Amino acid sequence: MLAKMNEYYHEHLLPASPPGSVFIAKPPGCTITAYTSGKVLFQGKNHDAEAKKWGIPSEERPLTESKRHAYSPPANIHTMSIIGTDEVGTGDYFGPITVVAAYVAKEQIATLKELGVKDSKHLSDTQICSIAEKILPIVPYSLLILHNEKYNDIQQKGMSQGKMKALLHNQAINHLLKKIPDNNIDGILIDQFTLPETYFQHIKGKEQLWTGRVYFSTKAESVHLAVAAASIIARYSFVKQFDKLSEKAGFPLQKGAGPKVDEVAAKLLNQHGEKALYHFAKLHFANTEKAKKILQRK
Ligand code: MN
Repeated sequence: MLAKMNEYYHEHLLPASPPGSVFIAKPPGCTITAYTSGKVLFQGKNHDAEAKKWGIPSEERPLTESKRHAYSPPANIHTMSIIGTDEVGTGDYFGPITVVAAYVAKEQIATLKELGVKDSKHLSDTQICSIAEKILPIVPYSLLILHNEKYNDIQQKGMSQGKMKALLHNQAINHLLKKIPDNNIDGILIDQFTLPETYFQHIKGKEQLWTGRVYFSTKAESVHLAVAAASIIARYSFVKQFDKLSEKAGFPLQKGAGPKVDEVAAKLLNQHGEKALYHFAKLHFANTEKAKKILQRK
């Protein structure tokens, strides 16, 4: 029956299906996941109508699978050797986007904990930099920096930030896999920034060296230290780049995208002209227009 269903939903199949599944199809109002076990899950407002087409009685049909999804990490992931990925700078007007993939073997977890690796949201930039310098020599990682000239170029050509992130995460994973070919890797854990289906859509046709399991989780820094390490290294690199930019500007730039950022952007515009913003900032953010308005008022 799975083959028949696959054919029937042909036009609605997603390009990739998670481990343990045969396919995922999304006809209007329903998500259908077929598992290798033969189980088929119908979800969404039209689940009943779709399931009836296949004569599947409602009582045999699990309607919800709780909050977990097909890419949710297993409960014992903290005991595994994992490549974790995370990015920094996507919400900051000034500074680049930094993306890091980091490999943490299960034997390394205790050491990293001792060095202070944890969810970077609970750490100051000073703490992050000090921990990063301790773990950089011992954690295999790959770092990608998307500077703003390139960011603005591809953004103006119509690429979404989501797609940029997906491409960078995939690339960082590929680079890291080439660095550590002989390691035991139980899976990849991505700090979730979009739906897994959308992620795979974005990287469709790109080189994907990893053929094993890929897990997605929000707040993945607290799910496995590999993501916490990736996050710390990404933040560290962002801060270093940010400091360099401040030096170039001749005054301290401001992180984030709030009203203080508008003021600093206005100062930058005033002193260095509009071209400078292309180098320093993510131009399409609302801060650009706000900065221009501030200048006009003066
Ligand atoms: Mn993240």
